[in-house]
Amino acid sequence: MGVRLAAAVAVLTCLSALPRAAQAQWHERTDAIMGTRIFVEVWDTDTAHGEASIDAVLAEMRRIDNLMSHYKPESELSRINARAALEPVQVDRELFDLIKLSTHYSQITQGAFDITYASVGYLYNYPNHVKPTEAQIKAALPAVNWRNLQFDEARHTVRFEHAGMRIDLGGIGKGYAVDRGIELLKGRGIQHAVVTAGGDSRILGDHLGRPWLVAIRHPDDEKKIVTRIPLSDAAMSTSGDYERFFDENGVRYHHIIDPHTGHSASRVRSATIIAPTATQTDGMSKTAFVLGPEKALEIINRMPEYDAVFVAPDGRVLYSNGLRPPAPRPAGVDAPQGAPK
Ligand code: ADP
Ligand code: MG
Repeated sequence: MGVRLAAAVAVLTCLSALPRAAQAQWHERTDAIMGTRIFVEVWDTDTAHGEASIDAVLAEMRRIDNLMSHYKPESELSRINARAALEPVQVDRELFDLIKLSTHYSQITQGAFDITYASVGYLYNYPNHVKPTEAQIKAALPAVNWRNLQFDEARHTVRFEHAGMRIDLGGIGKGYAVDRGIELLKGRGIQHAVVTAGGDSRILGDHLGRPWLVAIRHPDDEKKIVTRIPLSDAAMSTSGDYERFFDENGVRYHHIIDPHTGHSASRVRSATIIAPTATQTDGMSKTAFVLGPEKALEIINRMPEYDAVFVAPDGRVLYSNGLRPPAPRPAGVDAPQGAPK
């Protein structure tokens, strides 16, 4: 888990003073789906409706997992990986759209985000401390290139234009599932909620008049907090090199792979992205690992919907322009007349 959600204690104290007639309260559930921790919390006056809404979000996540998991041999995604180098494979529209959308993130991240990373990524097994040899990486790397994904809009088929290609939506599927969960809750009339899948969260509304405070943990100590970000009606994803990894001879092998080298990408320790939707934040949260924090900030600062917090290997914390406090005025420069102090 990259983030921790904390409600201001003061808010909770105020709630107990609300008229009892409303009986609104938070309902929450934790589950394990998509190989990660799912957390759903909704504010509802009707307990049965609140609980049923949580059930609906979890069912939706299971549906998405069955469609998109590369761990499940019977999933539609596995079917694509098995056949798309041989012939165009007709794909469920929703999955087609998400694969296509993934190439949009490849475009805006200069290839740092690339679902075809899996052509080499599948050679790693973090729980079992398995990594590919240099020769294996060299042999697999030519298959990593999102430009070799060929789409046919009319027939919604996907084809791999290179032998040995594989795709894996692990870098965007959870964000997408979180967004689907939030849309579902909105459709059921819920106005305040949190949906989290691993490092990807989205907040609907606020915490009854105040923003949620979302903590970004220290990469080496989950009890230490680097900073807290106030959030309402927004999504946030944190990627970290401490999520799925093993260390060997002083090198950390972790689950974010540089598509250009086939090695773990280590230019930051953690990257947090904030934007309106979790698909956006998930799609962008790998960028700084591959391109480095400065280059990633350049990209983020050009896109007004996005903000970012990066923790560099030397411990520096870098913020995008939207999160930085205003620069202090240079000495000798007075505030314009009438400006607020
Ligand atoms: P989480 O799975 O907790 O949401 P991240 O959002 O950080 O974690 O995504 C990491 C996952 O993204 C990896 O486990 C892998 O499935 C996928 N991935 C790794 N490297 C890349 C890459 N360069 N481009 C796209 N996806 C990647
Ligand atoms: Mg993610």
